Amino acid sequence: APVLFWLRRDLRLTDNRGLFEALNSGHKVQLLFIFDTDITDELPADDHRISLIYDQLKLLHEAVKPYNSSLLVKYGRPAEVFREVFERLKPAAVYTNEDYEPYAVERDEHIAQLCDEYSIGFEKFKDQVIVHPRDVLKKDGKPYTVFTPWSKKWFAAFDAERLSIYHSEQHLQQLAPGNYELPKLDAMGFQYNPREIQTEFPASGLLKNYDDQRNFPAVPGTSRLSAALRFGFISIRKLAKHAAAYGTFLNELAWREFYMMIIYYFPHVVSKSFKPQYDNIRWRNNEDEFARWCQGSTGYPIVDAGMRELNQSGYMHNRVRMITASFLTKHLLIDWRWGEAYFAQKLTDYELASNNGGWQWAAGSGCDAAPYFRVFNPELQTKKFDPRFSYIKKWVPEYDTFNYVKPIVDHKFARERALNTYKSALKKA
Ligand code: FAD
Repeated sequence: APVLFWLRRDLRLTDNRGLFEALNSGHKVQLLFIFDTDITDELPADDHRISLIYDQLKLLHEAVKPYNSSLLVKYGRPAEVFREVFERLKPAAVYTNEDYEPYAVERDEHIAQLCDEYSIGFEKFKDQVIVHPRDVLKKDGKPYTVFTPWSKKWFAAFDAERLSIYHSEQHLQQLAPGNYELPKLDAMGFQYNPREIQTEFPASGLLKNYDDQRNFPAVPGTSRLSAALRFGFISIRKLAKHAAAYGTFLNELAWREFYMMIIYYFPHVVSKSFKPQYDNIRWRNNEDEFARWCQGSTGYPIVDAGMRELNQSGYMHNRVRMITASFLTKHLLIDWRWGEAYFAQKLTDYELASNNGGWQWAAGSGCDAAPYFRVFNPELQTKKFDPRFSYIKKWVPEYDTFNYVKPIVDHKFARERALNTYKSALKKA
């Protein structure tokens, strides 16, 4: 009997831990990917991330052909797909890599039970993080909620085992023979809307200058690897080794794992504020203002540039993500969940844990967030981080003409209003 290797957010054949284990299990290995309709039903037919995944699956499908193997790609609810595949292939086990999102954790528990029902093994492995969320805890065994002490332990946990590479690509002769055809995208109800992403590791020059340049949105000073990391086109272990000498960059990889740890231990953050008293805030939630923020026509050039970059490219620079998120929650007093949902629709690198963490950080409601009385001043942020207006000019070419919209709200007024609203909500708690 073969074993199944279930690909999810680890779409690569190299240094893939779970795949490595499957290939070394003594069984032949059938690769499986499921377009999970519980997720895809929420997305528009031409969602660019579906095409991005599809193109990658095509690459993998071609790459295993020399081994007379193929990818089995299914469309449906995972439990139903697995029942069908179990009946047909009678596998000995399902191998996969762990995913720490609440939906994924629940889904995987369900599939593990189903495997049990069929007397099929279910094996999962740590792959998308360097350090398992469970491996960095406070002395009392509880999870951290503050980044700095957590990150110290996270760095200290780096050892040869955690950074070792799993050469799954050297064992592909263990793939099961077969020639499944990839289903066509439109047969699954999707439209092709391709999107290219960065998958090359950053050059040493970028890493060297990262600390100085990463905050300037007009400068190509960051790695742009977020989408490749999100879908596992690249291995986090290889990236961390590649960047081992560059602390500031590694620190950003730490933030990625910190938020995964937070969502794993505090799944309530998916729909609620990490700090419950922040759910007392009386958001204004003005729909017209929200629409203007989404379109990038608030009259604040740095905010509008960010939103237009997002709408047109599916990416936004981190500094500007912070500015636009702060503007929505503080200047416009619109619920961070609205902004989070909009980013989730648009970002190619959309990742629940980081997006939620970023939004709650900006709103002040998250663990280790900016204190609520810190309200970003868009003008000062521009002076500091886009002093020559290069980023603004690129995305908002009309910003210094009469055609540019008037500011949606006065900064000083909005700041006072935010402080008062937050203060009274937090007093109630
Ligand atoms: P680099 O600066 O090159 O960083 C390298 C990698 O480190 C990134 O690819 C990413 O995986 C990780 N990283 C960097 N900064 C952060 C951070 N603050 N938090 C978590 N991980 C980080 N990142 C996402 O991957 N998906 C999201 O949906 C997402 N939503 C965000 C929403 C808001 C409101 C904010 C403030 C930040 C969000 N981020 C998100 C984090 C960050 O903005 C992006 O990871 C980063 O801009 C991606 O560009 P890069 O790959 O060039 O980053």
